[in-house]
Amino acid sequence: MIVCFDIGGTAIKGAGAWSLDDVRPLARRQTPTHDFDAFVLVLKSAIAEIGDAPDCVVLSITGIIDPDTGKSFIANIPCAHDRPLKDGLETALGLPVLIANDADCCALAEYGAGAGRGHRVVFSAILGTGVGGALVVDGKLINSTGGFAGEWGHAPVAATRAGNPPVDLPRFSCGCGLEGCLDAICSARGMEKLHQHLTGKSMAAEDILENWQSGEAEAARTLDVYIDMLSGPLALVVNVTGTTIIPVAGGLSNSSALIDALDAAVRARILRRFPRPLVVQAQCTIEPGLVGAAVLGFDFVGQRAKAL
Ligand SMILES: [Zn+2]
Repeated sequence: MIVCFDIGGTAIKGAGAWSLDDVRPLARRQTPTHDFDAFVLVLKSAIAEIGDAPDCVVLSITGIIDPDTGKSFIANIPCAHDRPLKDGLETALGLPVLIANDADCCALAEYGAGAGRGHRVVFSAILGTGVGGALVVDGKLINSTGGFAGEWGHAPVAATRAGNPPVDLPRFSCGCGLEGCLDAICSARGMEKLHQHLTGKSMAAEDILENWQSGEAEAARTLDVYIDMLSGPLALVVNVTGTTIIPVAGGLSNSSALIDALDAAVRARILRRFPRPLVVQAQCTIEPGLVGAAVLGFDFVGQRAKAL
């Protein structure tokens, strides 16, 4: 049995997983953000409530673990930030602990129980608050130490001229410290900034998408530029990883029209030809953090059994 946690800045969701088809969620618990001992106690109380001896504990976090130092970067939970979180929790809980970020868990969930089933290489993308992603190959998360693999949203690659006809674009500064990241112009807030730049109008991303679908000219122009900017780098991800499916999660993926348009643009720009959709909506939309954590936990248990 695997104990899975989805650690958010305000709530901790927990579940016991006996199989991928048998994941039993617990009531949400409040996240102690400033007291690590209290944080550990919440995890312990959840494990006790499940009442079975777990093989391991898996955490989905909104952050990263530095692969060189093992230290966590979790901006919204100060007590769990900047510390060797895995070692600390293993000592405190007396159980093996695995940690993956939310994008990693999303990719694992899609591989194990979603649109990525049956695919050897699954690159899962996030389009929402941020632009992110993660890679699973042959069931293995290619980010085993919680580092940075799959982070296609952060690099200064955003086009400075895009759309048909092309328009000059600024390089927006990004929260990571760089300029010109896709995260800064193709996330939900990025789409809003792009629309503002092109039209001078402030509008929520979901309204821009709605206007686009109803044929409104300004929104159509914004989406023309947006899809042009996003599809080139995503096509490169396909060529580099050899992924045969890209499940997309995050708030913007709720627009099936956006995902369909992105799929057409990406498929027109890659070397391999797919006679079927490549970029698709994620299927594990309910608790992908917990499901992905369970996939990671069962893989860990399977590997450990093989090694014995
Ligand atoms: Zn960035």
